[in-house]
Amino acid sequence: MNKGMLIVLSGPSGVGKGTVLEKVFEHDKNLAYSVSCTTRPPRSGEKDGVHYSFISKEKFLENIQNGRMLEYTVYCDNYYGTDAEYVDSLRKKGFDVVLEIETNGAMNVLKKCSDAVSVFIAPPTFEHLQKRLTERGTETSDVINKRILKAKDELSRIDIYEYLVINDVVDNAVQDILAILRAERIKKYNKTNYRGVLI
Ligand code: 5GP
Repeated sequence: MNKGMLIVLSGPSGVGKGTVLEKVFEHDKNLAYSVSCTTRPPRSGEKDGVHYSFISKEKFLENIQNGRMLEYTVYCDNYYGTDAEYVDSLRKKGFDVVLEIETNGAMNVLKKCSDAVSVFIAPPTFEHLQKRLTERGTETSDVINKRILKAKDELSRIDIYEYLVINDVVDNAVQDILAILRAERIKKYNKTNYRGVLI
């Protein structure tokens, strides 16, 4: 069995990554979502083990010390990170694993895993993003301001990613990501698995 691909997907808070990814997962059954660990408290409706593994700061620091994290970062005063063994076990089962992570973590993964596919989802304009973040009402104004600052920083680092997807119309962004996955699979697997007669 082929080891699955690693897909690093970033985009500023409020860009609609969740909605886009949900639809991508509906269409593509070979994908697995990497459930990150975080010390941020759950939002209403978020489930432990589904959206995140919600853990204490002490436990998070212990995981770092034990070398368990593929990458981690501090984002708006909370820790977020990816468990290396968990991702590897999904890839060994043949799943293409999606890491939905911010740009610092993405840079670290891209340094460690040169074959990872990287995608950045951007808003059509910065104003769209500000409006969405302010209107969704899931954060306090202090947190919103921090997220807007972080979004500016993330948008300035688009160049580290191979692909840029613009989330203007959700279905178009979904189709773009499905097309990227399809092309990357053809690139990665077809030559390796070809068993035809070579002349
Ligand atoms: P949120 O609090 O909105 O769920 O996530 C905040 C940011 O953290 C988002 O940009 C999200 O992609 C990022 N994030 C989520 N999990 C991880 C992770 O495991 N590692 C890193 N570096 N960023 C993450």
